[in-house]
Amino acid sequence: MSKIINGKEVSAFVKEKVKTEISLLKSKGIDVSLAVILVGENPASKIYVANKKKACEELGITSLEYLLPEETTTEELLGLIDTLNNEKTVNGILCQLPLPKHIDEQTVINSINPKKDVDAFHPENVGRIMIGDFDFLPCTPAGIMEMLSYYNIGVEGKNCVVIGRSNIVGKPMSMLLLHKNGTVTTCHSKTKDLPNVTKTADILVSAVGKANFVTADMVKEGAVVIDVGMNRENGKLCGDVCFDEVEKLSSYITPVPGGVGPMTIAMLMKNTLTAAKKQNNIF
Ligand code: NAP
Repeated sequence: MSKIINGKEVSAFVKEKVKTEISLLKSKGIDVSLAVILVGENPASKIYVANKKKACEELGITSLEYLLPEETTTEELLGLIDTLNNEKTVNGILCQLPLPKHIDEQTVINSINPKKDVDAFHPENVGRIMIGDFDFLPCTPAGIMEMLSYYNIGVEGKNCVVIGRSNIVGKPMSMLLLHKNGTVTTCHSKTKDLPNVTKTADILVSAVGKANFVTADMVKEGAVVIDVGMNRENGKLCGDVCFDEVEKLSSYITPVPGGVGPMTIAMLMKNTLTAAKKQNNIF
């Protein structure tokens, strides 16, 4: 029987520490602020943005919301980002992805000042993560590392398998596990005989986005299983992992909901705090 990794508990722990530091900064006259840009009407994005706003309010971060219409052009969006880049009172800038198809996503990411890039998607920050000299880490993989650490799950020397190679989850996840001296394999849709690879994992991270994708026959007994997937099945939120069957043989497992999800927002708050400290030369 698996031990459940409680993302709500770990995120509360992280947020409490961030809140304390934010109030300390406030007492020094430093107000921490995060600008969140949402373009269009994507319902999932609207929920994420609302949750980010709520977390900011909880922790004492000033949240600035920019809700732009679907027909916003790349140029208009770049104009707003330029203003926010130059606005001293704005510490972090986040542009909620995905953007409408007519907007060039990479150009938008590239336009955010790397020092305010609290998602850590800018190529400069991605490069710095690669060489292990970073200010910010992408929120979801960083949240997973925080959960492993909270539960004293060591990575060094372990076989780590990450399913998925997206720029926002899979690739940085593999890199962070490598930085912690894991032996890392990254799988994707062209990987041959996936179950044979995943069965070697002491730590298995699934970031695929398909319900019921990871079944018990793909998991080694005693493995730590981290489920990043956020899928809807019959209107219900679920991960990539067949929880009921995998839970019986894994040592630790994250549930969906209540696992990785809450960590992502907590780490965004942490990154915003880090940005504010760096911009005010507080180390
Ligand atoms: P993505 O960009 O769609 O990437 C999915 C990855 O899965 C790709 O690398 C793809 O391989 C791989 N894949 C697809 N089918 C596969 C198969 N049959 N076998 C092996 N690999 C396969 O998705 P993402 O943005 O990384 O997100 C992944 C999931 O995590 C989604 O459900 C998303 O909603 C969720 N998510 C959750 C959080 C959170 O806070 N909990 C945050 C971010 C994302 P190819 O590269 O070969 O196409």
